[in-house]
Amino acid sequence: MKRIATLLCTSLLIQGLGAQTFIQVYKNRADMVSQANITANLQEFASYGVKTTGSQANTNTLNWIKNKYLSYGYTASQIVESPFTFGSTSSKNLIITKTGTLYPNKYVIICGHFDTIYGPGVNDNGSGTSIILEAARILKDVPTEYSIKFIHFSGEEQGLRGSSHYVNNVVYQGGVRKLDIKLVFNLDQVGGVRGNNNNTVYCDEDQGGVSSNNAASAAVTQQLRNCTALYSPLQTAVDPAEATDYIPFEQKGEVITGFFEKIRSNYPHSSSDTFANMDPVYVYNIGKATVGALQHFATASITTPVNREAAKNPLETAKIYPNPASSILHIELPNSKETHFSFEMKNLMGRSVLKVDNETQINVSNLENGVYVGVLTVGEQTLSKNILIER
Ligand SMILES: [Zn+2]
Repeated sequence: MKRIATLLCTSLLIQGLGAQTFIQVYKNRADMVSQANITANLQEFASYGVKTTGSQANTNTLNWIKNKYLSYGYTASQIVESPFTFGSTSSKNLIITKTGTLYPNKYVIICGHFDTIYGPGVNDNGSGTSIILEAARILKDVPTEYSIKFIHFSGEEQGLRGSSHYVNNVVYQGGVRKLDIKLVFNLDQVGGVRGNNNNTVYCDEDQGGVSSNNAASAAVTQQLRNCTALYSPLQTAVDPAEATDYIPFEQKGEVITGFFEKIRSNYPHSSSDTFANMDPVYVYNIGKATVGALQHFATASITTPVNREAAKNPLETAKIYPNPASSILHIELPNSKETHFSFEMKNLMGRSVLKVDNETQINVSNLENGVYVGVLTVGEQTLSKNILIER
C-alpha cells in the first residue's frame, strides 16, 4: 500500500511540474538510439530502389518494415496491413499497435510515409521510417499509459493517399469517429544535407486548416521542442504544418505535430535522394529527440523494469566503484579480456562532463560534488549507473 502511494505521489509530482521535467530514464532510453541501427536502416531502405506507390519495390519495402517489427518481438497480431486503392493503383499502409496500460483506447500516433517517387528517397522518407523503427525497437517492452500506433503510410507522394484512406476509412467509419487519438506525430524528410551543420530541426505547428485544434497543436509542438532540448543535442524552430501525412488528420480536427529538416535538401523527388547526400548523424540525433518525445506523449513508465531484457544485458554485472567516489573510479568488465570500451559521465542535465576510452582507472577529481550518470559502452551494449561524487 505504501509503495503504491509513493509511486502515485511521484507520478503526481511529475504531472504537476508539467511533465516537461528532465526524466533520466527517458534520457537513458533516448540514448539507446543506435547510430549503427539508423545507418543500417537507411542503407537497407536505399537498397529497395524507387518505391513508387503500387510498385513491387513499394511492396518489398513494406515487407521489410514488417519483418523489422517481428524481429523486435512485436507479434503478428499487433501488425495490420491496411490496403487502399486510387484509380488503378493499389498499395498498403502498415500499422503496428502497442497497447497502453492506463488508456488502452486512446492513441498516440507516430507516423511517416515509406513510398518514394523518382528516386530511392533515403531522406524523403527513409529518414522518418528509420527513426520510427528505432523508436519501436527501444520502446517494445516499455509500458506506456497511452496506446501507441506506429504507422507507415504509402501513397504520400501521390497526394497523401494512404493517410487520407486511413483517416476516412479507419479512424472514421460511416462518418463516426472510431479511434480516440491523443495526437499525431509525423516524421517526414528529416535527413538533412550532408556537409552542412544540421543542428536544428523544425517542429511543425498547425497554424491553418481547421482552427479548433490550433491551440492544442501549439501546446504539443512546444512540448516537442522541450523534449528535443532535453533528450537530444539539437535546437528547434517552429514552422507551419503543411503537405504531409498529418494533414488529413488535421482536417478532421485532430491534434498534430511533427519533425521536418531545417536546412532543406533539394534532392527529394529525384534520383539523387541517396544515402551519400544526406546526414545520418542528423537522423540519429532526431531519433533521440523522437524517443524522448514519444515517451512523454505516451507517458512511458518512469521506472526501469527488471525484465528479461535487463537481465540479458551482459554488462549488468560490470562493476563501477567506489560509489560514492572522490578521485579514482574503477571499472571492471564482466569479460576481463575486453579492452575496447568507453565510459562517459553526464550531469543531471544530460550534458557530458567526462569521456574516456579503454581506461579502467578514471580520474574524477575534477568533477564537482553531485550525482552523475555513468554510461559504460562496450560495442552495442550500454550500462547506465548513477554515480555520486563526494569529498
Ligand atoms: Zn515526404
